[in-house]
Amino acid sequence: MFEVDLEGVPQRAFTGALPSAGHIDDLVREAHARYVDTPDGEVADYIPELAVADAAWFGLSLVDVTGVAHEAGDAAIEFSIQSISKAFVFALVCEEIGHEAVHARVGVNNTGLPFNSVMALELNLGSPMNPMVNAGAIATTAMMPADSVEHRWERIRSGLSRFAGRELVVDDVVYESEMLTNTRNRAIGRLLEGYGRLDEDPEAVVDIYTRQCALLVTAHDLAVMGATLADGGVNPVTGERVVSAEVARDTLAVLASCGMYERSGEWLYEIGLPAKSGVAGGIVAISPGKGALGSFAPPLDPAGNSVRGQRACAYLSRSLGLNLFASSTAP
Ligand code: GLN
Repeated sequence: MFEVDLEGVPQRAFTGALPSAGHIDDLVREAHARYVDTPDGEVADYIPELAVADAAWFGLSLVDVTGVAHEAGDAAIEFSIQSISKAFVFALVCEEIGHEAVHARVGVNNTGLPFNSVMALELNLGSPMNPMVNAGAIATTAMMPADSVEHRWERIRSGLSRFAGRELVVDDVVYESEMLTNTRNRAIGRLLEGYGRLDEDPEAVVDIYTRQCALLVTAHDLAVMGATLADGGVNPVTGERVVSAEVARDTLAVLASCGMYERSGEWLYEIGLPAKSGVAGGIVAISPGKGALGSFAPPLDPAGNSVRGQRACAYLSRSLGLNLFASSTAP
């Protein structure tokens, strides 16, 4: 069970607007100070290059829907986006081909199993079940319309860059490190092909998926990307519409049920926000109409979710009134 000490932190209601900018700054700094010394969790090492991360890194960023940022700690350190890319690629593909097509092929229900589960595919007759686990993300990446493999990759890279409001680039060392060790994802690609859920060459699709996971972001970038989903699909910093308001809404619904893997229910119960995590230690948590939190701290719990990131999100969700399910009685 997810553990966080929120003793004495009053539950503010989601109803209404964010507190004043000065108060947000104070609470973001307080969240950082509260959990900066938390020692729990293990840095991921199944992708060898991720193991070189400093376990002490901890950055927090909250970007509101007017584009204003509130930050503490290592909010400008770059790390690979990993699974968090799945949320934004899903949104881009829905924008291109409509959410019904993605729903039919990939699904939107939680598997209840780890993100890299092969058994989940076998148990569900080849359905990946949702786009936030590796099988579903690989199937979703393959659905991005394109003339060639490189064109598909460029559409994904530039689309994620529009969410971030800057040109994102791949960490080649992380990409190569994962390509040398990702036999499991290649097997998932072949299995999807066998079940008729992949129309493209599985090797080429897994290659693009691995590149999208190796894109470098900061906690600040994650907050801007999330704030774009919170702002009805418009990047609040650049003013560019990246996806429609309907696609932003649908993406948040999938994140609520599947974004934190098999812990999604507990996360929603404790924190009450759509969110996505990645194995390099990033988390993005979105508060529709208000803004988004980006966090970065490499040590993970057994499901692959950043320990300090989850605690900071819990603290800020409660103290800023971000929990979607928290209402106050009308006056
Ligand atoms: N690239 C990683 C993988 O496929 C992403 C997993 C994650 O962040 N949970 O294993």
